Amino acid sequence: MAKKRLLMITPENREIFRHRKAQANNFLQLTMPYLAGFVSTDSFDIRLIDEYDEPVPYDESFDIAAITVNTPNALHCYRMASRLRLHGTYVVMGGPHVSLLPDEARPYADCLIPGEAEETWPLFLRDFLRGSQRRLYRSDNPPTLERLPRPRWDLVKTRRMARYAVISGRGCRHSCSYCNLRQIYHSSIRERPADEVIDEIATLPGSRFVFWDDNFFGAPEYAKRLLKGLSGLGKEWAAQVTLEQCENLELLQLARKAGCVYLFLGLESFSQGTLREANKGINRVCDYIRLIDRIHGCGISTQAGIVFGFDSDGMDVFDRTMDACEQLGIDGATVSLLTPFPGTPLYDRLKQENRLLTDNWEWFNGKTRVTFQPRRMSPEQLFTGYMRFRRKFFSLRSIFRRLCRSRVNILQSLILNLGYRQSIERNYDRG
Ligand code: SF4
Repeated sequence: MAKKRLLMITPENREIFRHRKAQANNFLQLTMPYLAGFVSTDSFDIRLIDEYDEPVPYDESFDIAAITVNTPNALHCYRMASRLRLHGTYVVMGGPHVSLLPDEARPYADCLIPGEAEETWPLFLRDFLRGSQRRLYRSDNPPTLERLPRPRWDLVKTRRMARYAVISGRGCRHSCSYCNLRQIYHSSIRERPADEVIDEIATLPGSRFVFWDDNFFGAPEYAKRLLKGLSGLGKEWAAQVTLEQCENLELLQLARKAGCVYLFLGLESFSQGTLREANKGINRVCDYIRLIDRIHGCGISTQAGIVFGFDSDGMDVFDRTMDACEQLGIDGATVSLLTPFPGTPLYDRLKQENRLLTDNWEWFNGKTRVTFQPRRMSPEQLFTGYMRFRRKFFSLRSIFRRLCRSRVNILQSLILNLGYRQSIERNYDRG
């Protein structure tokens, strides 16, 4: 039997494309290379397109097009699916947005695979080959993360300065009001066998990667086992963790020894009241300086997640946050506008209070638009304050102040900061 032609698409949101393109710290999107690893090469010819690098080849014909859909890309993906279906391509969709709103996505796809796809995606492919595919494959039980195939990085166009991504586990014990993790994944927390993760990392094509986990230190004893196995591989990596786990000095020291260069910390706010509002009481503002110093003391840089737009944020929040970042020596930051993703407690509350300003999902990217009516300022004031903060944070003066305070991985942090600075200059200041 002739092989089927399978097109796998990682879509890119036009709204923030330019912004991401100008930054120096992009990493490769894992989902499609990972799912491609489950596909039999005896039965399928795979073409993987990441719209970050190249356009979708609408003029070619495929048997199946698989699209992973997140909220800001949803409308773009629906348009893409309609165009592909016009040419007779069978369209299958999955990803976070399809998991949250399958009824919305249904008219645009021949088949939906909401939720975790490790078991349902291979099942769909098997049924497709037999001509007996269903319209919906829902993941009813948490799939095992054992004996996972290797992601097909060979299918991705090589990108300069790109980092690869690796999963070691899935899930998070917390329930922040704006996070949709619990609505997308099964609630159980699972880890991959540490030796399988180490084997995969040892054979990665590059020397730098990121852990894709939502909370890398979430299971500390497992993390320690993994970190011991990683040291000596000569890799450099970053991971997302909660600040409370950074109390654990042994964990930080092992992470550094294993090649950790920076930790992404979801600080979100420097006000305890705001953190309570966000149901993120695990962050204690009074501990910030001690724990950031501890991370720096271990030779690891900090990339803070900072979010503006909570109900308790007044106009003074921007300057207060700026002062705190400089005082703490925060090395870098991912600064976002609060975004009420569908399915989250935040979305439900704002909808109930009649404060959502749009249902255009393209605006729900956390970077370029305010999507709801803030409590203590206007949407314009929130956007202007957020932009002013970003310009100030990535000004040469602030970069100098922060990195002088941190004194960790200075050259690398400088490159990252200048990448963000360039992105802001190119996309916003020069129109
Ligand atoms: S700690 Fe992070 S991953 Fe966990 S619920 Fe909160 S935002 Fe989501």
